Amino acid sequence: MPSHDVDAPLTAEPDNATLGRVRKIIHVDMDAFYASVEQRDNPNLRGKPVAVGGSEARGVVAAASYEARTYGVHSAMPSVTAKRKCPDLIFVKPRFDVYKAVSAQIREIFADYTPLIEPLSLDEAYLDVTENLKGMEIATEIALEIRARIKDATGLNASAGISYNKFLAKMASDLNKPNGQAVLTPKVGSRFVETLPIKKFHGVGPATAEKMHRLGIQNGADLREKDLPFLVEHFGKSGPYFYGIARGIDERRVKPDRVRKSVGAEDTFAQDIHSYDPALEGVRPLIAKVWRYCETNAIRAKTVTLKVKYADFNQITRARTSERPYASADEIEDAICVLLKPVFPPSKGIRLLGVTLSSLEKDDHLQAQQLQLTL
Ligand SMILES: [Mg+2]
Repeated sequence: MPSHDVDAPLTAEPDNATLGRVRKIIHVDMDAFYASVEQRDNPNLRGKPVAVGGSEARGVVAAASYEARTYGVHSAMPSVTAKRKCPDLIFVKPRFDVYKAVSAQIREIFADYTPLIEPLSLDEAYLDVTENLKGMEIATEIALEIRARIKDATGLNASAGISYNKFLAKMASDLNKPNGQAVLTPKVGSRFVETLPIKKFHGVGPATAEKMHRLGIQNGADLREKDLPFLVEHFGKSGPYFYGIARGIDERRVKPDRVRKSVGAEDTFAQDIHSYDPALEGVRPLIAKVWRYCETNAIRAKTVTLKVKYADFNQITRARTSERPYASADEIEDAICVLLKPVFPPSKGIRLLGVTLSSLEKDDHLQAQQLQLTL
């Protein structure tokens, strides 16, 4: 096990020239989040192996309680396998509205310390506390305080990792889980990754790990031996990231989760359009494009806007808002057709059409379903 100073204060080291100003990043991660919420709300589940999601017959486990984990049950495991490993496993239906509410509670706590909060999911977030709202010097103390407040407000345990970048903070939050925290200082950061198995690196999925193994990379020290051109050749855009983390370096900023207000696509036609059918043909790929964005990001929209720009560059927009979010590309097309029809016949040619979705909302239930689909 690589050495790491547990609960040692993380202070800025201004002499670390390669990193510029040393930052203080905390990665907060709730312990067995969905399962812990279920055990909190149902005393009959406490101390028992619980799987959230799936059923005895089908589906996959979305989250497993620590009791279930001792049997080798983990998230993303097919329910049937989980039940075989742990015959007493209790399957519980997920309650995303409750998880979402708890998530909002913990984010409110984070916001007392810093506006630089980057959620990774409902139960995980990076916080940049280099300059925090409480004027606290020691990031370790901030993490302790945040975890205590989370426990107080929600009754749930959180773990935390504290370091000078996102990668190491994320790795550190696992070190003393559950209900613990660990710090990786600039002094130990690069040593820590040396012996770390490559498949444990955050950002290295199973396929990448396999590829690394084929290239003779088993751990951080092996990775460090490869130069940047080699890593870019084999891993493309991720090459520089891997090159950095092999040295304990990760310059990615903590990006606050700014909710996107709209998503749009438009197209200028090679020849001006004068009739309805070619216009419909023209907007279909735009609908497909914005819908793909919704699907990928588990987002739904309530408002559809059509933009029409004429040959003389005058433009009009027409919008429709539905009471419920549009649930498919076909529904969006139906709405667009209603907006598009009255435009014809146009007094002049149409040079551009655009489709924009707004009144966006995140669909956490959908996100969980996607997790299952990707398996
Ligand atoms: Mg978690």
